[in-house]
Formats: sequence, C-alpha cells, structure tokens
Amino acid sequence: MPIANGDVTNGTPISHKVEVQDYRKALQVLESYDSRDGLDIKSLLNSKDNGALTYNDFLVLPGYIGFPASDVSLDSPVTKRISLKTPLLSSPMDTVTEESMAIHMALLGGLGVIHHNCSAEEQADMVRKVKRYENGFISDPVVLSPKTTVGEAKDLKDKWGFGGFPVTESGQLHSKLIGIITTRDIQFHPNAEDLVTEVMSKDLITAPSGTTLAEANDVLRKSRKGKLPIVDSDGNLVSLLSRSDLLKNLNFPLASKLPHSKQLISAAAIGTRPDDRNRLQQLVEAGLDIVILDSSQGNSMYQVDMIKHIKEKYPQLDVIAGNVVTREQAATLIAAGADGLRIGMGSGSACITQEVMAVGRPQATAVHAVASFAARFGVPCIADGGIQNVGHIVKGIAMGATTVMMGGLLAGTTESPGKSYINREGKLVKAYRGMGSIDAMEDKKAGGGAKSAGTARYFSEGDRLLVAQGVSGSVLDRGSVTKFVPYLLAGIQHSMQDIGVKSLVELRDEVNNGRVRFELRTVSAQAEGNVHGLDSFEKKLFS
Ligand code: GDP
Ligand code: GDP
Ligand code: GDP
Ligand code: 5GP
Repeated sequence: MPIANGDVTNGTPISHKVEVQDYRKALQVLESYDSRDGLDIKSLLNSKDNGALTYNDFLVLPGYIGFPASDVSLDSPVTKRISLKTPLLSSPMDTVTEESMAIHMALLGGLGVIHHNCSAEEQADMVRKVKRYENGFISDPVVLSPKTTVGEAKDLKDKWGFGGFPVTESGQLHSKLIGIITTRDIQFHPNAEDLVTEVMSKDLITAPSGTTLAEANDVLRKSRKGKLPIVDSDGNLVSLLSRSDLLKNLNFPLASKLPHSKQLISAAAIGTRPDDRNRLQQLVEAGLDIVILDSSQGNSMYQVDMIKHIKEKYPQLDVIAGNVVTREQAATLIAAGADGLRIGMGSGSACITQEVMAVGRPQATAVHAVASFAARFGVPCIADGGIQNVGHIVKGIAMGATTVMMGGLLAGTTESPGKSYINREGKLVKAYRGMGSIDAMEDKKAGGGAKSAGTARYFSEGDRLLVAQGVSGSVLDRGSVTKFVPYLLAGIQHSMQDIGVKSLVELRDEVNNGRVRFELRTVSAQAEGNVHGLDSFEKKLFS
C-alpha cells in the first residue's frame, strides 16, 4: 500500500489510533479530518497574503502512480468545437509561426497560429500551404489540359511543391480523365515545348466515386502507384488520392486534422481594424479553420464587433478572442460569442507591457481567474506566454487552461522563420522578437514582416511615435520541433503520472475538487528546486 500504517494527523496530535487498511481508507481519514497535505487551489490563489502568482511561485504535490506514463491522454479542446491531441500552440509571431511551423505543429497534434505581420496575400498563401499539405480525397486537385506543355507542368510543380497532375479533356475537374503525369515523367524530358499528352500515362488505375476513403487507400496501396484518381461512371475526374498521404498518416498519428477532409487544421491571427475584414475574407477562402483576434488587451468594442461579424459571415469559422487576464474582460468576449479565449498580459518572455503600461497580471493567477470562469460556459482557454519548461505547461493546465501557447520556447527550432547564426559568445542562436517591439512594429507599418522585412525605411508616415511593448533578441537553437515537441509531450505525461492523473480533464477536475494539492515556494525553496552547489554542469534536456 502506498501509505504506511500508522497515525494520520492533521498537524495536531490525534488521540486515537487509526488502522490504515489501504490507500482509500487513508484518504478517507484525511478527508474526514479535513487535513489533506498541502493547499487546495483556492487557498493557494485566494490568500491575499500570497499576492498574485507566477508559475514559479508554487508546486503541485505528487499523488499516487497507478498507471504507466504512456497511458496519460493529452487530448484537449482549443475551441468549443475543435480538440487537439497535443495541447500545444505556437504563437502568432513573425519569428515563430509561418507555414513550416504551422504544418509541423499540426502534424504533431498541436496547432501553429500563422502571424499577420505580412500582407493578407502572404498570410493566405501560408494558410493554403497548410491546408494543401495533407489530404484524404483531394477534392480540388490541380488538373492539366491536353494543351499544357511539359515546361508548364514543371513550373506548376515548382509553384505547388507536388508534381502529380491528372490530365482531363477540358483541363478542369469533372471532365473526362485522359491521363496522369508525375515528376518522374517530366523530370528528364528534354523538350519543354512538348505537350503533356506525349509523356502522360494513359492506362490508369482508378476507383469509382462513392468508394470510401479506406477502400480507396487500399486500392492505392495495392496499385503501387503514387496517385489514385477517382472517377464517376462517365469517366470524369472527381478527386485524387496521393500515396504520400498514407505515409504522412502513418508517421504522424497525432496530427490535428479535420475528420472529413483529413486536411491539417489551420489557424491564423488577425487584428480588428477595418482592413482585417478583407484579410479574413482571403484567409477563409484559403481554408482557414480557426482565427485568433490578436490584441494584448482584447476587451474592446473592436473585438466584440469583429466576433459578431465573424459569427454572421463565417459561422463555420471558430474564433478565439483575447488576450484577457480578468473575468470581466472574459465575460464581454464570451457574451459576444468567442469559441475560445487566450490568456496572458505581460508574461511573455520578450514582453515589457507590465513595465511600460503598468497593466498585466502574473500568469498563474490570470489563467485561473479566467479559465475557471470560462469553464462555466464551456469556453476553452489558452494559457499564452511565460512558458519556459515542461513544468510550466503542466501548471498552466492545472490552473484551468485547456492548451498552452509558446513563443520563445519554439522560436529557436528549425521550423521557425529565419536561420540560426553563431552569436558573439559562439552559441548557435535564432532571432526572437516581441510583436510589440519597435523592429516588429516598423515592419508592420511597412506592410512587411519577416516575409518582406527591410522595407520599413521607405515608410513615409513615420512621425507617429511607436511605444514598444516588447524587445528584440535571440534564443538558443533547439533543433527540430519534430524532436522538441515529442520531448515536451513525454515530459507532460511523466509529470501527470507523478501527480497521479491520467488526462488533462482529470487534472483539472481533481484540482477543482481539492484532491490535487499545491505548495507555495519561498525564494529559498525556489533556489533549492534548481540545480545548486555544483561546480559546473551541463543542462541537457533530452536525448
Ligand atoms: P507528387 O508525387 O509530386 O505529386 O507529390 P507528393 O505525392 O510527394 O505530395 C503530394 C502532397 O501534396 C500530398 O500530401 C497531397 O495531399 C498534397 N496535395 C495537395 N493538393 C494537391 C494536388 O492538387 N495535387 C497533388 N498531386 N497533390 C496535392
Ligand atoms: P486512423 O487512420 O486509424 O486514425 O482512422 P481515421 O478515422 O482517421 O481514418 C479512417 C481512414 O482514413 C483510414 O483508412 C485511414 O487510413 C484514412 N486516413 C486517415 N488520415 C488520412 C489521410 O491523411 N490521407 C488519406 N489518404 N487517408 C487517411
Ligand atoms: P513518382 O511519384 O514520380 O514516383 O511516380 P509514380 O510512382 O506515381 O508513378 C510512376 C509511373 O506510373 C509514372 O509513369 C506515372 O505516370 C504512372 N502512374 C502514376 N499513377 C498511375 C496510375 O494510377 N495508373 C497508371 N497506369 N499509371 C500511373
Ligand atoms: P513566450 O512564450 O515567449 O513567453 O510568450 C509568447 C507570447 O508573448 C505571445 O503569444 C504573445 O501573447 C506575447 N507577446 C508577443 N510579443 C509581445 C510583445 O511585444 N509584447 C507583449 N506584451 N507581449 C508579446
């Protein structure tokens, strides 16, 4: 039994002995004496003496390990309608999330939110790339006409990144399929002027429309071909299947996909100015699933109007509003119809809002205040900013968040925009900047961003004074998110195992009913909890 026989006291000696038969009985005793060890969530956060708390100010007490860490489920909702298998998001920042990060975060079961410090066209293009990256039935495949030349087909491959194109009589979908060309057919073809009809394969393996995805995948597997065109009873092309999708599906079992299309879920951020409505139109046309209204103080008439506009015009689109750190802020946005909230003000690693604006809130307190309120309305919450390690992720979730958003922690990975470089101390680093830093804001004014940085100097309305809420710097290179995110996930599973809960839902429930307990950390406790007394050490996080 996990608890040894003996007296169970609540700090004051008890007069009678209790026979502890088993763990449950011991727990009953603890409950009956109202003397559980540690603090419940209310005592942790509501004691005025404690002030507001950051993640570093407390610890979660360990529970009972009754299952392997691999049994821990990390499924969690990010909006009212959409759940993720990995509760992690990358920030909409121009040094964090463009298409590569968005694709890889989604493949790993999380979500990458594409930034808006670029033109609407550039942002829509990134959304399109995420949506095109993986498919079940490709319902709008790029189709060639018999008049297309080999040179044009090569150009299309360069543009789209894939080179398997069906050829139909009219060059459109729903027209008679007459052949297919793939990269292999045109790669070494000497004459760019030749028509694709000269090199295409004509004797095609196809499947009839109405075939289920599982059946079609089976035909594709057995066919040993790269593509499987789906045709109707008249031989017209209806859709296409790609072998590489079977592999992607196999290699990334957690991927965040929509059940019907099997396409990756895409998310992007926008502002709330009139122009942003046009931007949103383009993003929706590109296939956007979730939009985040990006503001450090989200409780505004602008967000309320934008949420109403979105709900009216794009009822299929989920909208996450924010940022907020108080219940009052959250109430406005929930009432306006937000499908999710983003919590955090001034806790970001590249952020100086609290210092400059005198507003903000320590993150653990902010997350609990908002998330416990939003939960009553079934609105999931993202704990955004201030995540420096696995423990912070777990603490954000223990405070009530359903998912966690990271900027600085992911900015050093291969999938973030830009390249790593060696700094003056000889360390491999990557640029990271707050979106409220002067650098980022100047690029924004120039209509640029990371994708077209450098044009700021030509901006003529430069007289308006910019007040920075962020800084510009660098973070250590971390290698690929395909290794780093699995490390975070394994870490979260082990942490949950230590706490004794098997899912994120159970963690939040057990926190709310007072079974998961906490401890405040004094300054010396924090020092004790970090490496100390060593002459030197290397902090390697995983291998
Ligand atoms: P290909 O053999 O050169 O066409 O390229 P791959 O098979 O390696 O990759 C094709 C990837 O692009 C798959 O994941 C498809 O789902 C995706 N894709 C998205 N839209 C299209 C499309 O219109 N045509 C093709 N061929 N692939 C598409
Ligand atoms: P799972 O594949 O076991 O996770 O089950 P799903 O319900 O997601 O998929 C049902 C069918 O769709 C199975 O035959 C899968 O192989 C197939 N499938 C799932 N994802 C994809 C995908 O991205 N592309 C293709 N072509 N098939 C997929
Ligand atoms: P890769 O993606 O370039 O490796 O090419 P594939 O493996 O898809 O195709 C190899 C060859 O088969 C090429 O000559 C294609 O034109 C041809 N091909 C591709 N799909 C089909 C198909 O469904 N039926 C037939 N008969 N040939 C195909
Ligand atoms: P991190 O994970 O680096 O601690 O925090 C990332 C979060 O910081 C972002 O998701 C965003 O909410 C916030 N953030 C990004 N840039 C700025 C900025 O310039 N100022 C402020 N106040 N917050 C920022």
